[in-house]
Amino acid sequence: MKTHNIALRPTTAQVQQFHQHAGYRRFVYNYALSDFKAGLAEGEWRNGRTLRTRFNAVKDTQFDWQKPLIARVASHAFDDFNTACQRWKNKLSKFPKYKRKSGKQSFRVDNKRNAIKCEGKRLYLPKIGWVRTFEALRFKGDVMRVVIKKRGHRWFASVLVETLSMVSKPDLRGLPTVGIDVGINTLATCSDGRTFENPRALARFQRQLRRAQRALSRSVYRSQNWWKKKERVVRIHYRIACIREDAHHKASTAIVKGVSAIGIESLNVKGMMKNRRLAKALSDAALGGFLSKLKTKAQALGVHIEEASQWFASSKTCSACGHKKDTLTLSERDYHCSGCGLRIDRDLNAARNLEPSPLV
Ligand SMILES: [Zn+2]
Repeated sequence: MKTHNIALRPTTAQVQQFHQHAGYRRFVYNYALSDFKAGLAEGEWRNGRTLRTRFNAVKDTQFDWQKPLIARVASHAFDDFNTACQRWKNKLSKFPKYKRKSGKQSFRVDNKRNAIKCEGKRLYLPKIGWVRTFEALRFKGDVMRVVIKKRGHRWFASVLVETLSMVSKPDLRGLPTVGIDVGINTLATCSDGRTFENPRALARFQRQLRRAQRALSRSVYRSQNWWKKKERVVRIHYRIACIREDAHHKASTAIVKGVSAIGIESLNVKGMMKNRRLAKALSDAALGGFLSKLKTKAQALGVHIEEASQWFASSKTCSACGHKKDTLTLSERDYHCSGCGLRIDRDLNAARNLEPSPLV
């Protein structure tokens, strides 16, 4: 099973239909929640199946506005509510809440009776019809389901495909291993000397974002001007996320190519977030997202991933003689070893310490 996230080019009418379906899903979820609460008040536990039957019994008479919409969107909502309910029952979460209109806009369409089709740069959805896309589906195989969701100002289809055959994994024995130090300034430093920078465009858009946010905060809340300014902020956020993700994809693809094993630090991101000075820069670099992309790609190729313990002092230890420094401040960009006299870039030193031993 593989997922391809495709940006859509819907018509204005289709965008309206997307909103209607996302709204239908929210409506059904909230209906299920109300009905479940009413059941509890009467001392009755209405399970997912019961709630669905009760809704189906009244939907065509009470809510006939849903007739032109894709019916299976409702089952998505019932599945979600069931999950939320089970989590509450097992004390994993709080009691389910009503979904708000301002929340995430998305809905799922399961591909029953081959109602969904993907052909070139277009996607067919029941009741909505052909929607143009920015790219063709990357994988061959049967489409299992599609999730339509809004991100920033743009709509996406996340297409789940059951891929036909698994390609056998190549033999990686004899290929070099590489250690990766991830960071805020340089996204990734490899023990073989390669470095991957965070894209410069980010800083430029960050400045634009600050300016746009200031303009938003100065305008009258929910005035026509405010919505316009708001739209601008949303667009810049989206732009920044795209640039960052693109850089992460390029770096992770380049790193996993031609190696047999990768050593990484296990980032204690939550712990680092507590350090307020580091938190902003860290969340900007979204290092967790980068590492997870790296892991997924390595797994697909059969490249071994070795995660160092989070207590391993990859920065303070000398990669040549193993001498450990007591202190190393963040401003010291070079590592200078008092044991063997080695002078080396701080990140490169850390990357070398993380390099796994070769596979045999
Ligand atoms: Zn040394």
